[in-house]
Amino acid sequence: MLVSAALCHPLHCSMDPDPHEDTVRRLREAFSSGKTRPAEFRAAQLQALGRLLSERKQQLQDALARDLHKSAFESDMSEIILCQNEVNLALKNLHTWMKDEPAATNLFTKMGSAFTRKEPFGLVLIISPWNYPVNLSLMPLVGAIAAGNCVILKPSEISKGTEKVLAELLPQYLDQSCFAMVLGGPQETGKLLEHKFDHIFFTGSPRVGKIIMAAAAKHLTPVTLELGGKNPCYVDDDCDPQTVANRVAWFRYFNTGQTCVAPDYVLCSPEMQERLLPALQSAITRFYGDDPQTSPNLGRIINQKHFKRLQGLLGCGRVAIGGQTDERDCYIAPTVLVDVQETEPVMQEEIFGPILPLVTVRSLDEAINFINRREKPLALYAFSNSSQVVNHVLECTSSGGFGGNDGFLYLTLPSLPFGGVGNSGMGRYHGKFSFDTFSHHRACLLRSSGMEKLNEIRYPPYGPWSEQL
Ligand code: NAD
Repeated sequence: MLVSAALCHPLHCSMDPDPHEDTVRRLREAFSSGKTRPAEFRAAQLQALGRLLSERKQQLQDALARDLHKSAFESDMSEIILCQNEVNLALKNLHTWMKDEPAATNLFTKMGSAFTRKEPFGLVLIISPWNYPVNLSLMPLVGAIAAGNCVILKPSEISKGTEKVLAELLPQYLDQSCFAMVLGGPQETGKLLEHKFDHIFFTGSPRVGKIIMAAAAKHLTPVTLELGGKNPCYVDDDCDPQTVANRVAWFRYFNTGQTCVAPDYVLCSPEMQERLLPALQSAITRFYGDDPQTSPNLGRIINQKHFKRLQGLLGCGRVAIGGQTDERDCYIAPTVLVDVQETEPVMQEEIFGPILPLVTVRSLDEAINFINRREKPLALYAFSNSSQVVNHVLECTSSGGFGGNDGFLYLTLPSLPFGGVGNSGMGRYHGKFSFDTFSHHRACLLRSSGMEKLNEIRYPPYGPWSEQL
C-alpha cells in the first residue's frame, strides 16, 4: 500500500492540479492486470493485514490512546480484535464466498447452466471517520480485499495519531501496487472524489454522506453509506432499573459516547426515570469511580471543537448526574440530563458524547410515536422483562439494527448485516455481507451451441405456443 506522495508533501500538493491522478491510474492498471483476482493473492493480503494487527497491536493501541484516551481494553475489544476476527473469517471462507452460486433454470434454459458470479468492482474508495479509526478503516478494507478489489483508503484527518500510524504501517504490509492511502480533510477528499471509482464505501455523518453521494452520482458510482443519527432506547416499567442502568451506561459512555450506535436518549415513564437515576449514578460510580476524570477507563472528547459543541448541549434540560467539564483536558463527565424538551438542541442533533438525556413518555404507544416521527435511526434498543413489549417495539419501528435488553453487541456478530436505513445509511457489511457489498453479482447463463432445433419455438414468425409444444 502506498501513501499518496502529494499528501506527504502538502506544499507540493497545493501546486499540483490533480495530486491523485497518478495513484488512481496506477491502481486501475493493477486491477486491469488481474493481479487482485486470484484467491491466493487475496489470501496473502488478508494474512498480511492479520500480521499487522498482531505485530503492531501496541502501536495501534498507543495511537488510539493518544487520539481518544482509549483504554487498551476498549481498543482491543472494539477495534483490533473485531478486525482480527474479520480477517480470520474472510480467510476461512474465502473460497466458499468466491464460488459461483448455482441458480435454478426454467423451461427455456433447462439445458444450460445458470449461476451468479461474484466479481470484484475494480477500484474502491473507502472513507472513514475518527471515532473508531482502526476498525472503521480496516473492517471495510478486509471485505474489499477479499472481494478482489484495488483500494484507496482515506482515513479521518481528525484522529491524527491513528491516521499517521496507518499511513506508516499499511504500506509495509500490503501490496503497494494495489492498495494506497490518501490523507487529508474535506478539501483533499473533495479532489479525490472528482475521480471515477467503481464503488465508494463511506462511514461518517449524514451531512457528508450527501456530499459523497452527490459526487458519486456524477460517475454513477454505487455507494455504501454507513451514517449516524439519534438512537432511541425505550425502557419499559417492567424491568430491573439497575440491570438497565448498567447496560445503558456502559454502551452510552463506551468510547466516551463517541459511538454511532450508542443509545442516544432514553424514553421511559416518569416513574421509571425516578428509579433509573440512582441506578445510573451507581453504575457510573462503579465503572469510573467518584472522580471519572481520573479513571483510566474513560476516554476524552476527540478535540476542542467537539468539546465546545457538547458543552453547549449541557445547557439543555437539567443536569441530574455529572455535568463537570475541563476544556484543557477535553473532559466531559458521564452526564444524565432530565426535563429535556423535544425541541432543544440535545434532542435535535446526534449527541456523540457522554451525555444521556432521559425523556419521559406516558405509554409505550407514545414512545413508538416519538420514535417514528423522527428519521430512521442506525440502532434502536428496547428494555423490558416482557418479550411481548420488546417484540412490539421491534414490530412497530424501523432502524438499521435492533437490540433487545442490551446495547450494540449485535454488531460483533459477523453473521448479522451491519448498516443503516433511511437517514442512517444504505448498504450493509461485516463478514460475508462485506464480501457481497464489494462484489458485483453477475448473472450468468451458459448454454450449449447445439440443439438449435429446440430454439425454433422462440423465433418469428410466432405461432400459438400451445400448438408448437
Ligand atoms: P464526517 O462525516 O465529518 O467525516 C467522515 C469522513 O469524511 C472523514 O474522513 C472526513 O475527512 C471526510 N469528510 C468530511 N467532510 C467532508 C467533505 N465536505 N467532503 C468530503 N469528505 C469529507 O464524520 P466524523 O465526524 O468523522 O464521524 C462522526 C459521524 O460518523 C457521526 O455522524 C457518526 O454517527 C458517524 N459514524 C457512523 C458509523 C456507522 O458505522 N454507521 C460509524 C462511525 C461513525
